[in-house]
Amino acid sequence: MMCPACGQARMRRRRRGFLERFVHAAVYFCPVCLHEAPVSQVAVYPVFSTIARCPRCSNPRLKKLDKRDRIEKLYGNPFSRMQQWLGAPLLYCQFCRLQFYDLRRRDQTGE
Ligand SMILES: [Zn+2]
Ligand SMILES: [Zn+2]
Repeated sequence: MMCPACGQARMRRRRRGFLERFVHAAVYFCPVCLHEAPVSQVAVYPVFSTIARCPRCSNPRLKKLDKRDRIEKLYGNPFSRMQQWLGAPLLYCQFCRLQFYDLRRRDQTGE
């Protein structure tokens, strides 16, 4: 990973503080200029997002499906299945061609 501030190639991973653990999946720092580059949990684990995102690529631009498409894949994660039982809508990511259930509201800018 390259430092975005000074361009040197080797960033190091540092320990996260207690609160940082909830926000960042990892924090990298540059040993040369001490620039810090946190990696957000949302990019690594879409589950931490407050809006619905594709569990595979984190894309928030999702289509709502009225019924399950038998040809396209259905995300088999138990968390997604559990949300189906709770009445979550069926969402679809056009990039991954993946269907999944998600209770969180969709990002309406993607319409
Ligand atoms: Zn640097
Ligand atoms: Zn996707």
